Amino acid sequence: MFNSLVSFIREQYHSDDFIPLHAPVFAGRERDYVTDTIESTFVSSVGAYVDRFEHDIATYTASPRAIATVNGTAALHIALKLAGVEPGDLVITQPLTFVATCNAIAYCGAEPVFVDVDRQTLGLSPVALEAWLTENARVDDCGICRSTLDGKVVRACIPMHTFGHPAELDKLLDVCARWKLALVEDAAESLGSFYKGRHTGTIGLLGTLSFNGNKIITTGGGGMILANQELGNRAKHLTTTAKQPHPYEYVHDELGYNYRLPNINAALGCAQLERLEAFIVKKRELASRYAEYFDGSELEFVREPINCRSNYWLNAVICTDREQRDALLKTTNNNGIMTRPIWALMNRLPIYANSRKGALNNAEWLEARVVNLPSSVLP
Ligand SMILES: *Cc1c(COP(=O)(O)O)cnc(C)c1O
Repeated sequence: MFNSLVSFIREQYHSDDFIPLHAPVFAGRERDYVTDTIESTFVSSVGAYVDRFEHDIATYTASPRAIATVNGTAALHIALKLAGVEPGDLVITQPLTFVATCNAIAYCGAEPVFVDVDRQTLGLSPVALEAWLTENARVDDCGICRSTLDGKVVRACIPMHTFGHPAELDKLLDVCARWKLALVEDAAESLGSFYKGRHTGTIGLLGTLSFNGNKIITTGGGGMILANQELGNRAKHLTTTAKQPHPYEYVHDELGYNYRLPNINAALGCAQLERLEAFIVKKRELASRYAEYFDGSELEFVREPINCRSNYWLNAVICTDREQRDALLKTTNNNGIMTRPIWALMNRLPIYANSRKGALNNAEWLEARVVNLPSSVLP
């Protein structure tokens, strides 16, 4: 049944070899910039490419500040600390995400709370968020949102823009404002995705990006914190061992982290960012071909939400049931085409199995049906 899908994907990539889910493309000035760092000896924690990469990402996203980090998980960790997350707090997120989102919460000594996603956006549902809060929390006289079960502070909420498709940010912002929650966007997958004309990750209090090898552009490993001026300054300080500027003394005025992005990685990032818009044109072309292919079939291709421009980082299709999903996975992978099921829900992992959660009907429904299809930039 899925043999025609195998042929269709092979035609897109003009290839009879193994086709990966997402491979990076280095066809710009990557070699020049990386060689430049080696020749200058500035490959490590300081250097002109780090400043330039931060500046270029801030300009592209129209974020007041962008602070480079060693990976996206580190960026999330610091963003949550800056959002005020403390040990013992609760942080609401979606169960349908990559484990990094929840791990960053745990690094802060806080606990994730899992709330359902929307079927349309695959992102955190504002309706499910409001429902969980109404049933389980109240805002106290000091304006702090607390669990009615044990008084723990519900500090923040992290929606994730799944596969590059923006979540319903206006509604999430409204719920967070009324319930006094900080909104931090996990925009790891959505560089180049815009919600009502604004770049994802710049709409909440803070946002984070990832430049891991499988993301839309890569620095090898890397991440970015998007923030206003004040939080940007704090982010820079915390990610650079909390060292005070001084010509020769070592003064670290609080507990900091060595989360800087090395200059050699930033050089790769500068070259990749020059190619981003061209990548997105090709990714959107591929997505429209997939959409056309699945049009009129039983399977539903996941399209960008209205009022959004998605980067279509990973293409996804929703099968009718688990059996059909398994057949798709089997036929494609047996024929050298890499496809993958969506992540297992975070509340199934042993470390998060006892976490608080709302009804997860949509997440469970999607978990059984969604498959990611090859999405590398077309040749
Ligand atoms: C990639 C990713 C991250 C960050 O991952 P790193 O590998 O640490 O850069 C965080 N959240 C989501 C949803 C991701 O896909």
